[in-house]
Amino acid sequence: MLRIFVAILALVVSVVSQVPEREMDRINWMEFKKVVPSKVDTVLLPTGTLEPHGVINNGADNTAPTAMAKAIAEKTNAMIAPTLNYGITGSLEGYPGSFRISEEAYRPFVRDILEGLAKQGFKNIIVLNGHGGGQTAVLRSVASEVAIEKEVRTLVINWWSLASDVTKEVFGEDGGHAGWNETAYVQAADPTLVKKELYTGKEMTTAYPNGSSWSATPFPSAIGLYKEGEGYPKFDQAKADEYFRKVNEKVAALIIDVRKKWEMID
Ligand SMILES: [Zn+2]
Repeated sequence: MLRIFVAILALVVSVVSQVPEREMDRINWMEFKKVVPSKVDTVLLPTGTLEPHGVINNGADNTAPTAMAKAIAEKTNAMIAPTLNYGITGSLEGYPGSFRISEEAYRPFVRDILEGLAKQGFKNIIVLNGHGGGQTAVLRSVASEVAIEKEVRTLVINWWSLASDVTKEVFGEDGGHAGWNETAYVQAADPTLVKKELYTGKEMTTAYPNGSSWSATPFPSAIGLYKEGEGYPKFDQAKADEYFRKVNEKVAALIIDVRKKWEMID
């Protein structure tokens, strides 16, 4: 038993040490050629946008999936594609420093990138999406089309949604857009992006409407709560670190599980 364990460990160590660099932005072509796809056939593609997030950075939807990709790349044996920092910002577009690119531009842009990754030999293309709204639907449909046309596998993950049970476990309540959960995730990734001295309390927040009761553009607050009275940012570093770790574990576990099941299809 121990001998098997040691053999597996040696194999894991040898695979890991053969990947000198996980980021496609940083690896050179000779190194890339040696590892993709023979040793690494999975790629993580972080996607986000520019959008206000209460008292954290406008690029929080880029910061979060980028940090996530770096945190889980080793565990999932994946490369990391450069982050798509521009996206389809929705009802928060009216805020300073925030804008969208049109769906007509975004769709073929994303498609070309997914196809480019497929052409490089990646069999498993994992979109780590940091931004919801209309962007999710576009990513899902383009990813599905590319998977079928290019005979690769694609998985689109909205981490805040996947991790909603982790949010309740760590904070004891629901979160929100730029709520305690997302603010905490960014705080763990880079505390300098959190300006807690600018947080003046509940007046900076609005609970999302129930169903179709109302809508407003711009949405009246840059912090949108999923549930009235829950998810106000509280800036607790220990909880932020715990949340970061548990969310990353959950995302990595999903990727590993889905990939294992994909292998059984072929
Ligand atoms: Zn966000």
